[in-house]
This record gives sequence, structure tokens and C-alpha cells, in this order.
Amino acid sequence: MAVLNRKNSPTSNTAGDTNISKGTLSKRCSETFKAALRIHGGTVSNTVPAAAGLVETLVVKFPQNSLVNTISRKRKLCEKVFPQIYNKKVQEFETSEQNQLRSISVYFAKGVMGKRKYRSVCKTLSMKRSKKKGKKFERLKIMSCKVSKLLPYEKLMACVKSIDIGWIGNVREDFCYDFDEEDKVEGCYRSLTQFLPFMASFYLRVSQENLLWFNNKINTFHVVVGGDGAPFGKDETACSWLVSFLNRGRHILSSNENFLIFGANCSESSLVVQRYVKFLFSEMSEIENKTFQVNGTEVKFTFSEFPNDLKMLAFLAGELSVSATYFSTFANVNTGNCDVVSGTFGPGPTHTWQPWRYNQRVAMAKEVEKLKLKLEKQKGSKVSKRKKVTSLISDKKSRQEFVPLLGQFVDRAHIEPLHPKNNACQQLFRRILYESIGKSALDKSVVHFDQVPSSAPFSRLVNCLQKTAKLPRLAKKVRRWFNETNASGSDFQYRFTGQDSRMFLHNFMLVIDSLKQPADSEKQTFTLHVFAYICLQLRQIVSIVCRVVSIRLQDITQLKGYCSNLFRACCLFTSSISPTIWSIGHIIPAHALEVFNKYQLGLNCVSMEGRESKHMAIGRYSTNTNFSGRWGQIFSHEFVQLVWLRERGFYEEENLQHKQTYIPKRVTNGESCFCGFEIGPQEQKCHYCSHKYMDQIEKSIKLGKLLVDKKLI
Ligand SMILES: [Zn+2]
Repeated sequence: MAVLNRKNSPTSNTAGDTNISKGTLSKRCSETFKAALRIHGGTVSNTVPAAAGLVETLVVKFPQNSLVNTISRKRKLCEKVFPQIYNKKVQEFETSEQNQLRSISVYFAKGVMGKRKYRSVCKTLSMKRSKKKGKKFERLKIMSCKVSKLLPYEKLMACVKSIDIGWIGNVREDFCYDFDEEDKVEGCYRSLTQFLPFMASFYLRVSQENLLWFNNKINTFHVVVGGDGAPFGKDETACSWLVSFLNRGRHILSSNENFLIFGANCSESSLVVQRYVKFLFSEMSEIENKTFQVNGTEVKFTFSEFPNDLKMLAFLAGELSVSATYFSTFANVNTGNCDVVSGTFGPGPTHTWQPWRYNQRVAMAKEVEKLKLKLEKQKGSKVSKRKKVTSLISDKKSRQEFVPLLGQFVDRAHIEPLHPKNNACQQLFRRILYESIGKSALDKSVVHFDQVPSSAPFSRLVNCLQKTAKLPRLAKKVRRWFNETNASGSDFQYRFTGQDSRMFLHNFMLVIDSLKQPADSEKQTFTLHVFAYICLQLRQIVSIVCRVVSIRLQDITQLKGYCSNLFRACCLFTSSISPTIWSIGHIIPAHALEVFNKYQLGLNCVSMEGRESKHMAIGRYSTNTNFSGRWGQIFSHEFVQLVWLRERGFYEEENLQHKQTYIPKRVTNGESCFCGFEIGPQEQKCHYCSHKYMDQIEKSIKLGKLLVDKKLI
């Protein structure tokens, strides 16, 4: 009877709400309690066995969701019992290694936070304003459970300082020993003999499956070395050298894969850097002849690529810093013969231009040294002596002054594609800009951009940059340049960024078309077609050159064709050949082939892209550092973020995919003409590409001579 009654009025409904009277509930509890004491062998003075038995019953006999459901209704359990258990664990966690790691990772995530920001983040994460009297802040709690705290700043720093970052040398002591006190510079450097095996071991541990090996030589690391000015704001000159490894494939373009080996407050071609490079060279020569034991594996190193800008490369090759006539480190081309339409580059005597040979470099350097010794004994001003030196070099049709700092390694250097790409985009844009101004035939009274009639090609060009071509920064620079100079003589100087180049190559047809007028003369129409042709070649070149992986021999063959087209078009249809255009025409395809034959990689593996973004990272590491200890801290921060934390699983791979598309989607999915311009329904080609001029341009280029009326050019 009693059992039936209870079945008819159970202690709770199916949802878990108690819905019987308080009296009945308390009676039922007493009964359960007594029964539990009896069953589990407890007494009124020792209830522990009953509690243990009841909890055991709860855990074993009830499904988890009904426990969650019923227990979450009990404030005593939720806000008193569990927090007491949990808070003890939080305390343990806060002193654990896990929390140390977590805190260090927070401090170093995407650049260094700095003391004040870190402290403020710590506070925001786990504290709140207190309502209690005399207390400003109290711990943030959820159901009385404390939110765990990050490590306090001082403890964090103590942890960071205890991390062994390997041997670091002092630039001031080791490379400035004989300088006057005020000329000494601050800086740090690493020894490759120590650092390379360390990095090899690191990569073998953290990303072995992602390492590429070349020509079946497993465990041979291909080291990439280069240096550059690293700007820290306007007032400080700085120079940094970085290493990376070709074995990391396309990741080499990430700043996280480029590691500092030298950083100092000096210019990139100073005596300090000269001394450092000599040290580097001696290390490199020794390392290549050795085998290293790394985690029980035999490892070798070879110095493969030297991504440097042209100025740094000239410095490393011992060449004149400014050699106007012989402008290339890679070939004996000069301004007098760089526009030979059908000229070729290669090592043989039949080629128009050949690479500089190492023994020629050394022979020339010796002659220069002899002359310098002779001049030292003679009277005369410094300027006139210098002139004698430079005229000797130019008389010998050379640009060589010293023995290359990098020794024979200089022969391994390949052209870096990032700067030629941006420079070429800039130069082509400049031609389009000047054409637009010429066509606009502006009155002399027009001295401000606002006065330019909106129908003028110049105004339409700027408008197109601003709106449709997605180049608003460029539009702004053009307006400012016009307002400052009225386009009367001084060149439009603006360095294209990677983003500018990408947008320009995506949208050049829109930019070119903005210049079109119904009343265009034949010559003006022809010019637009030349622009369209050249820009399209450049886009195709860049789309191949910007790859590190996924490249085939046929891509390199195509590249050679596009490069030759671009060069010939510039020779035949434009007034001059710039060193950039010459290098794209001849050095880029030759070096792309060499690099492909060596590693089956694209030329972008020599790119400075990762290095340029590393400069920004160095800038971030340097914030919150004081001047004297700056480089030490930068080296330490870099190591902790890129090596130490990464070994412990805190690492985000950078997404680099988006940077590699130079061909717009509308072209790849066939919505537009191949050049990127709009097409009508049922049309294969736009009205530029199907124009008779385009056909004439193509034929002229194929034959390497003009097949069009000279009046058009
Ligand atoms: Zn087209």
C-alpha cells in the first residue's frame, strides 16, 4: 500500500523538480538515511560509510544526465561543495608548468605584449571590480569557482630568463674592438657552427614529415642566408641577417621560418657588417665540409641560396655600390647594349651577355688593389684618386672593386624575385600614368588635382585606381604628387608594395581602359594595346615566379617565353629598357631554370618575402625594450616564440595561400577575357585582344622586329 502511494506521488516529476510537501520530503530523506546507515554499516556518530555508499550508488546506478539534472538544482553542492574541490585544483594549476607555458604563450602570441599590456590582460582575464568595502578588485568566479590566473609578470619573466637560448655573441666586443668609443654599435650575433645543428635537430623533431630533401640526399639541409637593413622607425639604422631552410618548402615565405643570426645598429654596408660577413664566410666554408651528429643522425649543411636585394648583393660580391653602366651582379650587361632585341644570356661565347666569372672577379679586384697601393704613395685629393679607381674599373668593362666577401659562394646567388616584381609593376604603372597626363593636355593653369576636368583621362585614371582597381593608396599618392609637382618634371616615385602589385596585376586592364577616349588617335590606341600586352606578360611571369612548390618544367619553359615577350615588347615599343626589365627578360628565366634543376622548386624560394615580414616581427620584438639591451632581448624573444614555444606545441602555421594568386578569379573561371577585361556573350576575346594591333604586336615580337607603321610608336 505504502509503495503504491509513493508510486502515485514520487519525490520528483520526470524533469527532476521535487513536487511533494516539505514534510513528506523530509520524512523520505530520514528513511533513506536510516536505510543507508544500515546497508553500509554506519552509525549515527559515524555517517561517513552511508555518505560513501550513497555517492557510490549515485555514481554507479544513475546515468550522467540525470545526475547533472538533479545535482545542478542543489546550490549547496554547486556553490559550496564543488567549488571547494575545484578551487584547490585551480591553485595547483596556477603553479603548474602548463600554466607557465600558457602564460608565456600569451605573452609572445603574434609579437611581444610588454609588461603593462600583459599585466592588464592578466587582470582583465581573472579579476573584476569589487563591491566589498576596502577592496578594489576581486577574483572573477563562476558558481564560486575561481577563474584561473595567468602567471604574474615577475614570475613570467623569471621563467623566460631561465630559458637557454644558446650562444649569443656581442657585436660591440667582437666586431668593433678597435673603433672609437662613439662609433661602436650595439648588437648580437649567433655562430652558425652552433646554431645550424641546433636548428636541424629542432626541425627533425617538430616537423620531420614536412621537410623536403633534394636529389635523394636525406638529412642534408639547404641553408638560405641573407642580410638587409631592418628599420626600427626613422631614427635608427639597423641591419639584420637571417637564416632559413629550403627544406621547409613554401613555408620559407613565412617570417616564422626566418631566424636571426645577426642584428646590430649599423648600416648594412658598414665595416661592422663587412667583418661579420668575413666571419660568416669562414664559418660557412668550414661547415660545408663537415658532418654533424644530431640526435644520433648524421646531418650535413650546404649553403644554397642568398636572397638579398641588389644593393646588398653588390656589397657581398665586392662590386661598386653604384655602377651606372654595368648595372647587374648577374651579367656583364651594360646600359649601352641592354636593348638588343634578340640578345640572349648564357655562359657561352655566342651569348650577348654572360655571367661574371669568379676568376675574372678576383683578377679585377687584384688590379684595383694594385692601383690603390700605387695611389696611396702619390699626392692628390681623395676625390681624384677615387676617380682613377672607378675609371680603371669601367675601362676594364667591369663593376668589380674587391674580392667578393662571400668568396665563391657568390656564384650560387640567384635573383630575388620580390623586388623586380614590385619595381616592374611600378614602372609600367608610371608609363600608364604619364600617358594619361599627356593625353589629358592639361592647361598650365591647372595646378591642383581638383582642377583636372573629370572627363580627362588623367582624372579617369585616378578615379579608376580609387574605385574599380582597388588601389586607393596609389590614387592618393598620384593626387599628392600632382599637387606638389604639377607633373612638370619630377618623376612619380612611389614604391609598390606586394599588395599594390597584386591589385595592379589583377586589374591592369581596367586601369588601361580608363585612358581610352572616343577621339583617340591611332597612335594613342596602339599605345593602349602595347600596355595591355606588356602588363599581361608581366602578370603571367609573376604568376609562375611567385610559386615555391607545384611547379613543373613546362611552367619554366612558358616563363621563358613570357619573359622574352616582355623584354622584346619593351625594346620595340617603348623608349628605354630599365635594369629591372632587362633582368626580368633574361636573368629571371635563366635563374628560375637553375633553381628548378637544383631543387624542383620555383624561383620564389629565393624571395625576400618572409624576410621582409620578419622585419616587422623584429620591430614588434623591439617594442618595450630599452636601447642598450635591445638586440639581446630581440634574440631572446624570437627564440622563445619561434623555437621554444613551438617545441612545446604552441605554434600557428601562417596561411600563405592568399598571397600567391596573381591571376584573377574571373580569368580562371572563364568569365572574362584571358587578359582580365570584360567580354560580350559568346565572345572568346575582349576588344583589345581581338584588335588588329594586338596581332601586329605579337607578330613583331615573334620576329624580333617592327612590323607596324613607325608612326604608331
Ligand atoms: Zn583581352
